[in-house]
Amino acid sequence: MTDYRSRSLWLDGMPGELDPRPRLPGAADVVVAVVGAGFTGLWTAYYLKKADPHLRVAVLEQEIAGFGASGRNGGWCHTTFPGSREAAAKVHGRQAVIDQQRALFDTVPEIARVLEAEGIQARFHWGGQLDLATTPVQLLRAREAAAYERSWGFGEQDYRLLGAAEMRARLDVAGCLGGGYTPHGGAVDPARLARGLADAVERLGVTVYERTPVTAIEARRADTPFGTVRADVVVRATEAFTAALPGYERHVVPIYSLMIGTEPLPDSFWDQIGWAGHEVFGDFRHLIFYAMHTDDGRIAIGGRGAPYHFNSRLDESYERIPAVQDRLGELLRELFPGIGDFAVTHRWGGAIAASRDWATSVGLDKSTGLAWAGAYVGDGVATTNLAGRTLCDLILDRQTALTGLPWVNHRSKLWEPEPLRWIGVNAALRAMASADDVEARTGRPSKRASYVKKLIGG
Ligand SMILES: Cc1cc2nc3c(=O)[nH]c(=O)nc-3n(C[C@H](O)[C@H](O)[C@H](O)COP(=O)(O)OP(=O)(O)OC[C@H]3O[C@@H](n4cnc5c(N)ncnc54)[C@H](O)[C@@H]3O)c2cc1C
Repeated sequence: MTDYRSRSLWLDGMPGELDPRPRLPGAADVVVAVVGAGFTGLWTAYYLKKADPHLRVAVLEQEIAGFGASGRNGGWCHTTFPGSREAAAKVHGRQAVIDQQRALFDTVPEIARVLEAEGIQARFHWGGQLDLATTPVQLLRAREAAAYERSWGFGEQDYRLLGAAEMRARLDVAGCLGGGYTPHGGAVDPARLARGLADAVERLGVTVYERTPVTAIEARRADTPFGTVRADVVVRATEAFTAALPGYERHVVPIYSLMIGTEPLPDSFWDQIGWAGHEVFGDFRHLIFYAMHTDDGRIAIGGRGAPYHFNSRLDESYERIPAVQDRLGELLRELFPGIGDFAVTHRWGGAIAASRDWATSVGLDKSTGLAWAGAYVGDGVATTNLAGRTLCDLILDRQTALTGLPWVNHRSKLWEPEPLRWIGVNAALRAMASADDVEARTGRPSKRASYVKKLIGG
């Protein structure tokens, strides 16, 4: 039996057993077959069944619900625009981009509403997001971020600058110079959300088959070792695992993001640093980190720094890299010098997915019945909710405000074949990391990171 608990702090903390649900018993016929029981697949199934309780919907999951990124992430339920606003505006106009951003803001109250309505105990704290600045260059970037939001018509109620004292009153980080704050975000236990959603869709009449790998997705069918599922619509909700599907090898690249979780920290520490609002927080460096204060008094912190693996390979052994995860521990000591000795009880990781132009998309090809959503580049916790609602409207052939948003039916170019892909992606990852070193050395903003973003089309 696979040890699912070892794959993240969140899966480890799930109450009850993680025994897989039954596999697909044989060939089946449904109206909608969803491949993947992460947030994307489960939100899609949820909204479909809510809209039409008679619809026959099946979810096919290779492991268990929440096995992928949805059960392992940083718990940031946040609303970053899924791609480049400028690129989307060129095609769809400025107002469409603003509409998409507002629709993303709406995901946070919508998730809160469903958690309440379905009785899902996902330890959700709607505390917003803190973007800390700990160097003058980062402070400059915070000001630019606020000015950028204003230039798109988003006001103080959407994003505002905090002075050092105001920031410290929320979260006392060493060397804090201030930063930015948005209320459009919260912290959630992602495994509880994913597994709670799986239970909720089952209650609505969706069949969730676990330990059922889909070996190929074709027009109106999903093949598995246990039989073929025929469906009017097949939803590909496989995110970083997509590259393993025949025909989809170059759609996205999987990039590992690694995390650690501390033991529960003493009250004296929390008294010292505050963080009572459970805001999610990061800062303005290029090699990002993301941190959250868990319900049981731990810090979960993650970051990039892991390499891209040749041929988009995924492997459990890539989920633990001591150098990267030890650095996250050191970062906690830098941010919170008063933290004292603490044990790191969990080390884990998972892959995020990026398309060639760094844009997320959701769509349905009516001629083949193939639907998809993904390439969230590490920003999928809230965005998947919007994707699920949008897929629901597309599948039910409803023309709504959601089906007109810029990311709908967006097609990204394919990634280059290997070895170009490996060379390019790793060079870009290294450049992002070294941009921080350049800034630390010179005290000036590095152009390297924005140059890399341009090169990859983001
Ligand atoms: C370490 C880490 C930290 C992150 N932190 C954050 C964060 O703080 N905030 C944020 O917004 N986003 C974050 N993300 C990204 C976020 O978790 C994802 O964008 C989101 O969970 C994607 O959901 P999904 O359902 O599309 O994909 P997944 O959750 O990966 O689900 C895909 C599912 O499909 C199944 N599957 C794949 N292939 C097949 C197949 N062939 N047959 C059957 N089943 C299949 C997989 O087993 C998996 O369960 C993070 C990701 C990682 C890895």
